[in-house]
This record gives sequence, structure tokens and C-alpha cells, in this order.
Amino acid sequence: MAGKIYLVGAGPGDPGLLTLKGRRCLREADVVIYDYLANPALLEHAPASAERVLVGKHGGGSRVDQGVINELIVGYARAGKNVVRLKGGDPFIFGRGGEEAEAAAAAGVAFEIVPGVTSAIAVPAYAGIPLTHRELASNVIFTTGYEYPSKPEIAVHWQELARSGSTLVILMTQRQLRSNLEQLIAAGLRPTTPAAVIEWGTRTMQRTLVATVATLADRADAEKVKPPALAIVGDVVGLRQRLSWFERKPLFGRRIVITRPRHQAAELADRLEREGAEVVLFPTIEIVAPESYAELDRAFAAAPTYDWLIFTSANGVRVFLDRLTATRHDIRAWQRAKIAAIGSQTAALLEAHHLTVAAVPEQFRAEGLVEMLGKMDLQGKRILLPRAQGARPLLPEQLRARGAQVDEVITYRSLPARKGADEVKALLAEDAVDVVTFTSSSTVQSFVAAMGPELSLGRAAVACIGPITSVTARQHGLTPAIEPSTFTVAALAEAIVRHLHPLTEAVE
Ligand code: SAH
Repeated sequence: MAGKIYLVGAGPGDPGLLTLKGRRCLREADVVIYDYLANPALLEHAPASAERVLVGKHGGGSRVDQGVINELIVGYARAGKNVVRLKGGDPFIFGRGGEEAEAAAAAGVAFEIVPGVTSAIAVPAYAGIPLTHRELASNVIFTTGYEYPSKPEIAVHWQELARSGSTLVILMTQRQLRSNLEQLIAAGLRPTTPAAVIEWGTRTMQRTLVATVATLADRADAEKVKPPALAIVGDVVGLRQRLSWFERKPLFGRRIVITRPRHQAAELADRLEREGAEVVLFPTIEIVAPESYAELDRAFAAAPTYDWLIFTSANGVRVFLDRLTATRHDIRAWQRAKIAAIGSQTAALLEAHHLTVAAVPEQFRAEGLVEMLGKMDLQGKRILLPRAQGARPLLPEQLRARGAQVDEVITYRSLPARKGADEVKALLAEDAVDVVTFTSSSTVQSFVAAMGPELSLGRAAVACIGPITSVTARQHGLTPAIEPSTFTVAALAEAIVRHLHPLTEAVE
């Protein structure tokens, strides 16, 4: 059976500006065909097994011919694949989405259009420029700045645009910006009309230059503006002085690498993105199942004999509960056991499953828990400790020293992952990373291994979640510059903000 083609608008660059429907399509995709305007971070939504095809590179040289793209999407669909053609902004605003839909229609392949947030509206918004305004502009025109010399009949009517009194948003303006603006002035547009050009709008590398219609081309040349960029012409541009918001965020323009396993990166990524940072996910470890669940199953069978259940990570909780479900055990068999947790996330996950945590140490690490439990009588007490393979022996040793009977069961293993290492190396080499974050010793070890012997972080600062991770970092020749006083993701994000933007008072 033939597959289907979804022409999906990727939004203007900020990955948060994808639609829910677009995300659903990505989640169900067999193939994603994308180009440089679509933020590659969106590929995270596609299944790991989905094929990813980059067509058309930044800079033109290796741009794939439109006919080839059309054949590609139709070909995959005919082979029965669910194809997502991910296009920057909205698929039907410039960018040739219409031609791709025509190709699908001509081939008799089913297709759907999933609109996206076009750069024509989102980029002005992120620059703090309202396109209409009760006192300044009653209408807005989206136009291409690029004119096909071979097709004079579809040329842009600059004269009419100049006289329209509308705000003009000029896309694909780069090569012909000077000529576009000259034509507007020649047609009578006031040369002092405010005008702006915005490069890589809505991304962390957004750059905005403000001038007038008469001077903008010189500014853009002097500052070497490169695609993607669009220009805005009209009195509304002046409002930016008061309304610029995105570029004022504390982490605006910063790029931060997160080395956590993929499913655990979300909270840190979210907190940093909210402050304006661009996050690069580089999961250096992958969480996999233990070789066998026999030990855990044995513990389930002996549930009523345990006095304490100690979880040292959210992963441990997840595996424990999943296995409980999979083997059809009832959590009520554990009613005698009190629960202790290291880490606020661990505790939060337990509470979310209606499991009351009796003990959370103030210091979110093994030492804190030992100190806390040490105040209680542990003589003869039975403790179950589900944990990662290779975890530090400190906790079980200390508990045993206090007379407890500790059963350690391995519930998961962390294995090094390498995917994405080359991209991260390239960013570090270009000095394009501000911070690399480590949330555990194993992320440090795997990061160092993945980067190879010539590890150089350039100007990137090292951020560690707590002292144990920092010690490991130092052992590997990295000098932590950022370490929060409580060992939580929230505190880590806050410490990063304070380090990069010392004037910030407090962040939520
Ligand atoms: N379909 C896209 C437009 C594709 S044409 C959309 O709806 O946004 C490509 C042009 O879009 C670029 O030349 C540039 O003018 C504009 N553009 C796209 N993304 C942009 C961004 N992040 N910042 C500035 N301009 C952008």
C-alpha cells in the first residue's frame, strides 16, 4: 500500500513553535525529509528508526534540485512509507511547498498539509516588531525580495508596495536587499522610514539590525548578514526599542550541551530554553535493562519481609514500577517497607505514584542518606536497594556497617552512547558552546570517552550538578566552573544563569 506525504511546517526555528499536529506527524514518520531552515532539534520527535534525509544545505552549493526533492518524497510514499516533508516556517508561504504538493497530486499519492508558524510573522514577533498597529499600520504585505530575471511577468510591483502604506515583510531578501529598497525609495517611499533586517530569527543566534530604508543595505553589508534573513519596512519597526523581549533574556545567544540520557534531559533543557538558551542534546549514556530481572523478581516475592526500600535515582523507580506491572505484582505487598529516596526527582516520581517517601536527605547524595538513616536503629533491618550496575559501594557498605541486611539488585545499566559526538566536537572546535553540563559521574566519563584523546572544550564552561560529579570531572582534566549548592536540575539551571548572566537576581 502506498504511504502518505505530510508537508509539515516546522515553524521559524524555535523548536517550541512546532504545532501539535506537526509533532504527531513526526512521531509517526518512517522518513523525514528536511532542509536547513527546519531546526534539526525537531528530529527528536521522530522515532529513532525513522530515516532522516537532509536536502539542500545552507549556502546554496550543495542544494538539492527541487525536481529531485519532488521525486524523493513521491518515491518514498510509493514504497509505502509515511513521509514527513519538514519545511521551515509554513509549507505554503514561499519555500516551494506548493510545487511539492503538486508533485504528490500529479503522482496520485495521498498528501496532507500541516501549516506552520511562518517566519514572516514569528521573526518580527521575536524581534519585538508588531506588524500592524492601530496608529502605525493597518495592513501588512509579505513579499519575496528575490526576483527571477527569467520571469519578468511575476516581478514584484515595488511601486505599488511603496504606495500601499503597509508594513512590508520581505523574505529571501539577501542578495537583492539593496535593489529592493532602492526601488521602494524610487517609488516615493520616505527614505527615513524605519527598516530592520533579522537573521536567524527565533533562534538563539537571532541578530537584528535597525536602520532606515535608505541606510539598511549598507548596515547589512557592513555586518555581513547572511541567510536566512528577512527585512521589515515600516513605522512599526520603531516599536522594537520598547518591545524587544527575546534578545533580552538572560541566556539569549548561549548554546548549552546537555549530556544526560535522552529521557532525562527534558527538564534541564526546558529550564535553559525558557531563559533563552539554545540546547544541544548529546546523550552520552543510554539506559538499558539489566541482563536479567531474576534478582528483582526474587525481591518482589519477598516484599513483606523488607523494612526499607531505598531508591537512588528516578531510573531505579521507573524500572522497579515497570517490572512490578509487567509481573502483575501488587505494590501493597510492600506496605511494611518505608521508602527513602536520594534526589528530589526520585522522590517526586515516587510521590507521583502515590508512594509516600519517608526519608529524603537534605543533601541529595548517598552520604546524606547514610547520615539520616544512621540516626535510626538499623540493626537486623532488611533493606532493598535497587540500583544501577557499577554504582558506588558506599551506601550498602555503610548500611551494613550499621547492622542492616542489604539486598542490592541491579535494575538498569548505563552504557556509553556516541551518537552526535561529531557534531558536538565541531561546535566545541568553533568555540560555539558556552556550557557543557554534567549531571552524574557517568555522564562525565562517557563524554570524555566520546570526545576522544584530543578533548578540548575551548571557551565552554563545565557545569556539574554536585560535588561527586565535579570530582570525576577534575579527575578527567575538566575544571568545573559551575556547581549549585543543592544538587537538583533546577538549581543547576539557576547556577548556569547566574554564571552567564551575573546581573540576574533570581530565576523561578
Ligand atoms: N516557508 C518559509 C519561508 C521559506 S523562504 C516560512 O514560512 O517561513 C526562505 C526565507 O524565509 C529566507 O530567505 C528568509 O527570508 C525567511 N526565513 C525563514 N526562516 C527565517 C528565520 N529564522 N529568520 C529570518 N528569516 C527567515
